[in-house]
Amino acid sequence: MSTYQVPRGTFDILPDESYKWQFVIKVFREIAREFNYKEIVTPIFEKSEIFERSVGESSDIVEKEMYKFEDKKGRVFALRPEGTAPVVRSFIENGLSLKTNSSKLYYLGPMFRYDRPQKGRYRQFYQYGIENIGSTNPFVDAEVIALAYRFLTKLGLKNFALQINSIGCKNCTTDYDDALKEYFNPSLVELCSDCRNRLLKNPKRLLDCKVKSCKAIAQEAPSMLDYLDEDCTANFDKVKEYLTAMEIPFIVNPKIVRGLDYYSQTAFEFIDTNLGAQNTLVGGGRYDTLAEQLGGKNMPGIGFAGGFERLILSMEEEKLSFGLQQVPKVYLVALGTEARIAGLKLIMEMRRMGISTEYDPDKTSMNAQMKMANRTGAEFALILGEDELKNNNIILKDLTKGEQKIIKIPDIIKSIKDK
Ligand SMILES: [Zn+2]
Ligand SMILES: [Zn+2]
Repeated sequence: MSTYQVPRGTFDILPDESYKWQFVIKVFREIAREFNYKEIVTPIFEKSEIFERSVGESSDIVEKEMYKFEDKKGRVFALRPEGTAPVVRSFIENGLSLKTNSSKLYYLGPMFRYDRPQKGRYRQFYQYGIENIGSTNPFVDAEVIALAYRFLTKLGLKNFALQINSIGCKNCTTDYDDALKEYFNPSLVELCSDCRNRLLKNPKRLLDCKVKSCKAIAQEAPSMLDYLDEDCTANFDKVKEYLTAMEIPFIVNPKIVRGLDYYSQTAFEFIDTNLGAQNTLVGGGRYDTLAEQLGGKNMPGIGFAGGFERLILSMEEEKLSFGLQQVPKVYLVALGTEARIAGLKLIMEMRRMGISTEYDPDKTSMNAQMKMANRTGAEFALILGEDELKNNNIILKDLTKGEQKIIKIPDIIKSIKDK
């Protein structure tokens, strides 16, 4: 074992895997562009207060999982545990808006939570997400969901299901919270310690506790949908209507509550339905009070986030393609000192023309260099010996077909580009 290992709960993306990451990131950017969302990049740390005020003091994230630290001046920061609060912070700070054409945003990057590491869950994990800030129109809810749907289908995923719910607004939630308290109180001793806490502060959170005994008790809990007021009901009906119009299949699941305090009305999850998985691929919802909690004006918003780790696992389970591994187009085989120097010039020219080129200055024999050419997976080998050089020639060998021909050196780039 080496002296040092990667920190617990983190991982390296190794060279043979990185093309998968590049692929999903590329597709995400393409889809964001289709929907006219623009990228926003925020720092990986923020004042910890931003998360305490937005995500909520009672959430697991803030209570147990935040990487908090003091800098040398005693300011308290946190590595970002999620992407929405920083985006909303930046939105307010920079006066972004629909008017400045900057209300539709997407982000990518690492997030950090001190969580118990398990398969598909890490302390540094990579998320993609979008935020649409400024509108309460349910059309926007449907569009945000449609973007996630389009992304997953574009990747080729089939085994997933969209579940939606409305968790109501402040107005309808009080009665519901009371109903939940009444329902769960008689079973208090059977609940996990987290849930006993949640029952006082945020009873809705009991509905998505992963502990078995809590899950069993929550089975028959009252449904939020029975407590929605007129506005919230009309809103939810519109979202369903628009999704149907866009031919996006969904199921209503009243147990979807989303873990964070700032959510209201529309909540949704894309669930991986591969056998034994039952994991959330993408989760999102409306957060109409978040901006206010961060000191902004009344600024409604809705967004989603998903983890790249989970996404790549699901794609592997469904045996989907990530495109091709990176390989050089050309491998230069140079024999002798003069050919090697002439080869250097040629390599630079080819790279400038966008042709990916590889060679190995430590190998001198024809045999060793050809072996390397095959090992890298290059499409072509260019063979330059002293005889060829004297006649201004070079041998172009197609490594997949095994054919080769002699070409004048000044014509070589054109003949490779034409292939
Ligand atoms: Zn309501
Ligand atoms: Zn529980």
